[in-house]
Amino acid sequence: MSALKDIIRADVRAMTAYQVADLPEDFIKLDAMESPYHPFSSSPELLAQWQSSLAAAPIHLYPNPATSGLQQALRKAFRIPDAAQIVLGNGSDELIQLLTMLVAKPDAVMLTVEPSFVMYKHNAVAYGLDYVGIPLNDDFSLNLPAVLQAVEKHRPALVFLAYPNNPTGVSFRREEVMAVVRAAPGIVVVDEAYGPFSRDSFLNEAGHIENLVVVRTVSKIGFAGIRIGYASGSPVIMNELAKIVPPYNMNQLSLLTAKFAMEHADLIEANTAKLKSELGRMFSELSGVSRLKAFPSDANFITIRVPDAQLLFDTLKQNKILIKKLHGMHPLLDQCVRITVGTPEQNDAVLAVIRQLYGN
Ligand SMILES: *Cc1c(COP(=O)(O)O)cnc(C)c1O
Repeated sequence: MSALKDIIRADVRAMTAYQVADLPEDFIKLDAMESPYHPFSSSPELLAQWQSSLAAAPIHLYPNPATSGLQQALRKAFRIPDAAQIVLGNGSDELIQLLTMLVAKPDAVMLTVEPSFVMYKHNAVAYGLDYVGIPLNDDFSLNLPAVLQAVEKHRPALVFLAYPNNPTGVSFRREEVMAVVRAAPGIVVVDEAYGPFSRDSFLNEAGHIENLVVVRTVSKIGFAGIRIGYASGSPVIMNELAKIVPPYNMNQLSLLTAKFAMEHADLIEANTAKLKSELGRMFSELSGVSRLKAFPSDANFITIRVPDAQLLFDTLKQNKILIKKLHGMHPLLDQCVRITVGTPEQNDAVLAVIRQLYGN
């Protein structure tokens, strides 16, 4: 047994597995930016249509993402430029992994900012890239001079910028992201997991700027369960990326569901609009509580700093509400928690607990 263990990489053995919450059914789950709405539940007709299309899916055959029509449907729904090529991934997590693998030469550097999405660093470690993480400013804005200096010094093969950023919700300034894209010698991935909630996007630039790749997902807009992400970029990069995508990385049921969803994009947009309006309400309510600080968010969650993050986390949990405690993950996240925006009723339940703890 010990010999077998020795075969496994020491750095992997030292890792801890990504924690996925194991929750009783009656909990309100506001820890992972899932949509509280099943996308087709508001329309019995669509629900039935979707169910019968699933029933007819050729699950005895391997999927063919290229002929599934999903790429064309995504292009149309999100107006992806003709100049851009698309690669589909099993969630954008897989695309982040494949983009990392694509440049994983000895001594290659991945650069990102901190705090940001934890999977960037995780993949740098997994694929043996040197990792450089540049701290954000205290208000979670980009420290552009520090990033540009690091780009100059380390010449990263790969840069990840989440726009808007997770776990902070703050969007960097567009001109600053562009400055990084221009300065970087390698691939710059703008991760727009929260793009549908944001006021801005780099999707229009995809395909027009050679080193830019825009990665998006349907996870945060009602489809976390089907695992579909898409990367848009120039042929120079995307042609190479396509070579390392596992041939059957998507499945028939997901492809079919995503395509069906894109054909009924108005339904998804309606849910997104509801959540955006709830985000606005949550932000103004939370901003009125003097003992906490709410950071402005362009995503479907709000990050707040409170007097005691553990106490808030525990008290919400006693009230059957799960949020994400950020305190301890990074010095800049001192006493911070992240709360996914839910239905109005769920949000009211959160606000009630916060008021009970911190007053108005
Ligand atoms: C949620 C998230 C992802 C992962 O999305 P999937 O498509 O579900 O894998 C990627 N990037 C960021 C910044 C995220 O917050």
